[in-house]
Amino acid sequence: MTDSAPYPWQQSQWSQLSQSAAAERLHHATLVSGQAGVGKRDFAVSIAKLLLCLEFPKQRQACGQCARCQLMQAGTHPDFTFVDWLEKSSVISVDQVRKLSDQLHLTATYGPYRIAIINRADTMTSAACNSLLKTLEEPPGRCALFLLSERDAALPATIHSRCQRILMPVPESAAALSWLRDQKIAEAEVALEFARGAPLLAAIFARERDLSAIGNIREQWRQFLLADKSPAALAAEAANVLDTRESLTLFMQWTTDLVKNVEFSLADGRSSSEGALTERKFLSQALQLLQQSLRFDNASLKTLAVLEGVLADIRIQRIRTRAENSA
Ligand SMILES: [Zn+2]
Repeated sequence: MTDSAPYPWQQSQWSQLSQSAAAERLHHATLVSGQAGVGKRDFAVSIAKLLLCLEFPKQRQACGQCARCQLMQAGTHPDFTFVDWLEKSSVISVDQVRKLSDQLHLTATYGPYRIAIINRADTMTSAACNSLLKTLEEPPGRCALFLLSERDAALPATIHSRCQRILMPVPESAAALSWLRDQKIAEAEVALEFARGAPLLAAIFARERDLSAIGNIREQWRQFLLADKSPAALAAEAANVLDTRESLTLFMQWTTDLVKNVEFSLADGRSSSEGALTERKFLSQALQLLQQSLRFDNASLKTLAVLEGVLADIRIQRIRTRAENSA
């Protein structure tokens, strides 16, 4: 039996849903949550294809050949609805949800299910949420609704309580890297770091951004923190390829990695503890300064100015921390 999710890191979620569907125990509403770029949409669309395929549940993967699969591929299956932002909008409106509810209440044209996906469900307006709630309270027969969300906290508790929740976490980095390398993504490691572990986002970044420059900036950042290298070139190069938020977020991520390294070397006794403790203290202070800068409203400042400012603060902090510890 092939039991195949769209992406290798979604296998357990895939088995869970396809097995409950095969046993006719699929919940009528499922909240699929996870950060951008982990593959929520592809997962939900693949489940929809599976449920509508004529070979299901004999097979646990849509066949891609039958008449229903062909309708899905053509985007014309009458029992499937995909709701997303309309052009120029950045919310899911009450009208969209009402229309969807009407469709879900119709009898399926082919059966057995009517399926709908609400992409970016966390951007439903509160009127849209209320309208959806009515459908969830009295669900139409044989329907499967999937809500995709990056920020579950934006959805009211009343919606949460009526959905089964499938968590789509960021995959282990080894799994993500191996998938990215299979996609022939160069600089996979930097791309994945930049995408905060989300493989699909990493693949987009790899196409759209200058990752070798970002890899270079990472090296300069390490040199700056660990070897007192002057920050002038670093600030200029970062400001050239990244915006303020991206730079600060990456600096924080790279610094956190360095803190972990110091902690490992302390734990296994590779470092003299005094030097390593000072190092750890300084790195945590650098992290705090980056965090403060990220929280500060920098909108009116140029990236270069923000970065030069925070790098200068970090440099001063280093001098202070060393002086305190040698006193
Ligand atoms: Zn099929």
